[in-house]
Amino acid sequence: MDFGTTNSAVAVLEGGEVSLIPNAQGAHTTPSLVALTAEGDVLVDTAAERQALTNPGYTPRAAKLKLGTGWRVTRGDIRLTAEDVAGLVLARLRQDAEAYLGCPVTDAVLAVPAGFRRDQRAALVRAAGQAGLNVLRLINEPSAVAMAYGPHRDDCTVLIFDLGGGTLDVSLIGLGDGVVYVKATAGDSRLGGDDWDLRIVEHLTERVRRRHGVDLTGDFAATQRLREAAEAAKIELSAAHTTPLRLPYLAIGPDGPVHLEEDLTREEFETLTRDLLERCRTPVERVLADAEHTLADIDRVVLTGGAARMPAVGDLIRRLTDGREPYRGPIPGAVASGAVFQAGILTGEVKDMTLLDATPYSIGIETNEGTTTKLIERNTTFPTKRSEIFTTHTDHQPTAVLHVVEGEREDAARNRTLAVLELALPPAPRGVPQIEVTADCDANSILHITVRDLGTGNETAVTIDQATMERAAALLRSSRWAGLRGLAPATQAF
Ligand code: ADP
Ligand code: MG
Repeated sequence: MDFGTTNSAVAVLEGGEVSLIPNAQGAHTTPSLVALTAEGDVLVDTAAERQALTNPGYTPRAAKLKLGTGWRVTRGDIRLTAEDVAGLVLARLRQDAEAYLGCPVTDAVLAVPAGFRRDQRAALVRAAGQAGLNVLRLINEPSAVAMAYGPHRDDCTVLIFDLGGGTLDVSLIGLGDGVVYVKATAGDSRLGGDDWDLRIVEHLTERVRRRHGVDLTGDFAATQRLREAAEAAKIELSAAHTTPLRLPYLAIGPDGPVHLEEDLTREEFETLTRDLLERCRTPVERVLADAEHTLADIDRVVLTGGAARMPAVGDLIRRLTDGREPYRGPIPGAVASGAVFQAGILTGEVKDMTLLDATPYSIGIETNEGTTTKLIERNTTFPTKRSEIFTTHTDHQPTAVLHVVEGEREDAARNRTLAVLELALPPAPRGVPQIEVTADCDANSILHITVRDLGTGNETAVTIDQATMERAAALLRSSRWAGLRGLAPATQAF
């Protein structure tokens, strides 16, 4: 399953062949949308999309990107978290799959953006649980695209560039002999096709203000109409050089009704969005640097995601890769088709493919004076498990406090806090206790941390999720935090 920010898709493997499962309307993608109506109904996918224009406030977009946060939408007695929204969309995908297959569907492989945090992953697994689905594996979207592109080739290095509705994912992947090997991955979780739409909306709002003296910024209904028209214009400009924008009766101004009548050229559109395009560059440069590769090492380029169809994106990628002609993957469905191969590997149906995926961020703990000691470096192939021995700072230190962080900074406080674990210690001189810390990144890229006193055998363990992150953040803000002592590398001399 590909639970996309904007659109979702489901694929199934039957007799070694991949097919995309049509939804009840016969389409191969389903809008990832849920809506709350004034009558107290909850609408899902196409039904939600159809009324989005007249009910924008209760048809939240991009709920996927809010997984793992406290976001919610409330109307009357109904209150949905991002997890609930995801659960409802996944339940609908499951129903469509069951209708197509004529049998119950209980297990799934779900794709997630490579840059998804641990808590977002954990939240998606819970959402699937609400939809009655057991998650066999989470697979990173670009890795799924690589699986769909086909690992049965001569050894080659492929750059995968996936620009969807709300996120950009870039991966550098080695293919060959049935193996998909992720060399590096990077992205921008706040950049997608929706941002291009918003630029058109801003542009049109400004035009209306100047021409008709009407400010549309507070006008929900008008903004929503502009938004839909903007997306349609953007899509049209992928094929045409100019597109008409006609929105009669958009608002009422001092001189009567405001009718929007504009033409937008591709050139104007590209000028309005130049900085967004520039932002696509960074992750491409970053994966090359991380993998210690140069442009010459890239054999092929695969573009996927709806927004990568914009001609400017193709041009940028061609420029960034010394004129290599990008291959446009099967859209829609590249992600879902790749995920289904992973399902086939897990069930034994696919025997000649292997996926070796890599972690997007380093995992470490805070040691002396707030520095980060890394346990798992970013771009390490997972599943992976690393242990290291630490010791105490002070004589008779009563507890070992483990501040687990994710990120690349030396200064632990500037990385993302994942958890704080505490382990009681018997009295001992400093430097004597042998405390083993283990970071275990499982096949879903979900992280388990264990801290163990080798002297007593006592241990504490957690699985990183939103709850561990929230508890840790609260502790870091509290006055108790200043009095707690962490750990020192065991090799340190006192
Ligand atoms: P996601 O995986 O994030 O759900 P998709 O890969 O389906 O997203 O891409 C959705 C985005 O692609 C939307 O912003 C949509 O407007 C945009 N899009 C779809 N088709 C085109 C096109 N032909 N040209 C430009 N943008 C497009
Ligand atoms: Mg996608």
